[in-house]
Amino acid sequence: MSSRPRKPNINAGAFFVAIVLDGKALAQGTESFLKERVARFQSKAGRLPRLATILVGDDPSSATYVKMKGSACARVGMLSLKIEMGRETSTEQLLRQIRALNEDCSTDGILLQHPVPRQIDERAAFEAIALAKDVDGVTCLGFGRMSMGRDAYGSATPAGIMRLLGHYEIPVEGRHAVVVGRSPILGKPMALMLLNRNATVTVCHSKTQGLPELVRQGDIVVGAVGKPEFIRAEWIKEGAAVIDAGYHAGGVGDIDLKNASLKAGAYTPVPGGVGPMTISTLILQTVCAAEKSAGCEL
Ligand code: NAP
Repeated sequence: MSSRPRKPNINAGAFFVAIVLDGKALAQGTESFLKERVARFQSKAGRLPRLATILVGDDPSSATYVKMKGSACARVGMLSLKIEMGRETSTEQLLRQIRALNEDCSTDGILLQHPVPRQIDERAAFEAIALAKDVDGVTCLGFGRMSMGRDAYGSATPAGIMRLLGHYEIPVEGRHAVVVGRSPILGKPMALMLLNRNATVTVCHSKTQGLPELVRQGDIVVGAVGKPEFIRAEWIKEGAAVIDAGYHAGGVGDIDLKNASLKAGAYTPVPGGVGPMTISTLILQTVCAAEKSAGCEL
């Protein structure tokens, strides 16, 4: 693991340098200890952990994300099974594939790459994933359990953000967190994870009124909107922890980070912040799932 970072000076006023929440470095550190955990798992269980990825259709960005996840598996010495299905795939065909992976003892985690083609009922497909293999936290049951503070794998992107906040000792309890976006895979679980850590949480969405004023109240601001540099630097409170989940052409995120970083107490760079943490968390949760299924939690 990378060494403990210095404590950030959140909300301390102007004239300090913002802490860079370096997701790339933390993800690399995680991979080093995961390599050892995978080797220990193999010696105890006699097999390697395996993540199955399902890509439906030919969306180039989705293909890149799936490839990156497979490469991360290889880096830590575990297996990945890449399943590619045509763009005409029906819901029933996809459900059959997922059920087969649920039954397959050598598969520990299942990742269905979002989004799937329009004719597929994506929610039904997510729901078909067995809870024990839901390492991306996409099922309602997994989400509900996570929300209630019960054992479940969190959605990988917000869970990765929580790991990053924890690593850099960003204060969460009692702070006002403003999450912009409420998607099932990001904004909503993010809000619940922050709430579970005793933040006071405001969730904003496309119908929210007075967004700039709400964002200005945030000690922690999470941008999960999907629109390039949508959240303006002038909305950011001085000293806030600024978390940008977006990634768009030109290497920008959902927040105007170039300017927001000048007043933030801490911020995630784009790229190199949230993105690597998502993949790292997915791999970590797959290794955990393998250890649980083999009864050799380490
Ligand atoms: P999404 O499903 O499109 O959701 C976007 C959210 O933003 C929705 O809740 C929407 O509100 C809200 N929104 C849209 N316009 C808004 C406005 N004018 N004011 C306030 N809220 C508004 O996107 P997503 O999948 O959550 O992804 C969000 C971002 O994170 C994207 O940039 C995506 O690329 C990125 N992302 C990154 C990773 C990673 O690993 N780094 C993973 C997943 C996503 P409504 O609900 O009202 O429509």
